[in-house]
Amino acid sequence: MEPLSQSDFQKKFVLYSGIITLIFLLVFGTTALFKGAIFHGTILLIILVVVLISLSLMIIKDNISIGEITLSFIGILLMSYLTVTGGCCDGTGILWAYPIIVIILLLKGFLFGLMSSLIYLAVVLFVFFGDQTFVYQYETSFKVRFLSTFFLLAGMAFIYEYLRSTSHRNALIINEKLNLTSRLDPLTELLNRRAAVTEFEREFSIYQRHGNVFSIIILDLDNFKQINDTYGHATGDQALIEVAKQLTSHTRSEDIVVRWGGEEFVIILPGTDLQQAAIKAKNIKQQLSSINYQKLGVSDPITASFGVQSINNSTDVDDLFVQADKKLYEAKKRGRNQVVS
Ligand code: GH3
Ligand code: MG
Ligand code: MG
Repeated sequence: MEPLSQSDFQKKFVLYSGIITLIFLLVFGTTALFKGAIFHGTILLIILVVVLISLSLMIIKDNISIGEITLSFIGILLMSYLTVTGGCCDGTGILWAYPIIVIILLLKGFLFGLMSSLIYLAVVLFVFFGDQTFVYQYETSFKVRFLSTFFLLAGMAFIYEYLRSTSHRNALIINEKLNLTSRLDPLTELLNRRAAVTEFEREFSIYQRHGNVFSIIILDLDNFKQINDTYGHATGDQALIEVAKQLTSHTRSEDIVVRWGGEEFVIILPGTDLQQAAIKAKNIKQQLSSINYQKLGVSDPITASFGVQSINNSTDVDDLFVQADKKLYEAKKRGRNQVVS
């Protein structure tokens, strides 16, 4: 089974909480009416209608906050109402505050839950110690026990929710980092081939929808095996890092430089036609061949061969690659350090 995404999880949770709330309101609302507690029963059934409307709106508008907010506010009102009146039967309505505060916390998280608790605390203190005549009169021993147990439960639930949300946030950050690293080539820190595929798909769909032409340059370092053989693999690695830096610094921020594999790189040039891409490739060729690698102990120049192709001269992304590759091969055949477009 596919794991639920965070938003699907929350959506389902709000929906199930809403449905359970509706069932409870219906059962307790009608029971109250049958017992002759007309006012109490009517209040519960009015709340039921409000919950029903808000859940329907949430589904129709596909807006989860409508459900979250209504259920939470109704929770606060219901807790307060049941505390003030004692509910229908012998002051037991106040006991609903236990599950309701937990549901609010689960629905709206730590901060909103804390605020709701403080509001509710004010109501409880007013009812318990306000010397009001119109509120339900609770026994002193009940007041003490209710306050202690409610705040023990709420306190534990808050600590749990706080730790859960912190660890969830950390997990998201780690996930994002992993996501990023899985898209990067560890040696050059350029995008890797896997990430590039997504970029190609995106550019291609923009081209199909809006006709924005893009081109690619595929370049392969010349006789790089010899560099490794002469100066060692570690020096070869440093040279690849240097080449990657040069490619990045000689392209625009919207261009995408990819380490395609080994000593082969691809540059995606959005909004660039074949002619402009060919000019770009020639500039890069010039830049690369003039880099001085003395600081790496390499006295030979490192050159590259280039194949350039534009999407409007290709049938699709695969063909774009086949054509660019053919041109690269042609550049190698013509003696390397060349651009074929
Ligand atoms: P050509 O001009 O025909 O492309 O010749 P070439 O020597 O560049 O091509 P070939 O395919 O024969 O060899 C590619 C070389 O690139 C051999 C391989 O060791 C080297 N190479 C590929 N990836 C890396 C890497 O990550 N680090 C180092 N140091 N070398 C690498
Ligand atoms: Mg090569
Ligand atoms: Mg190669």
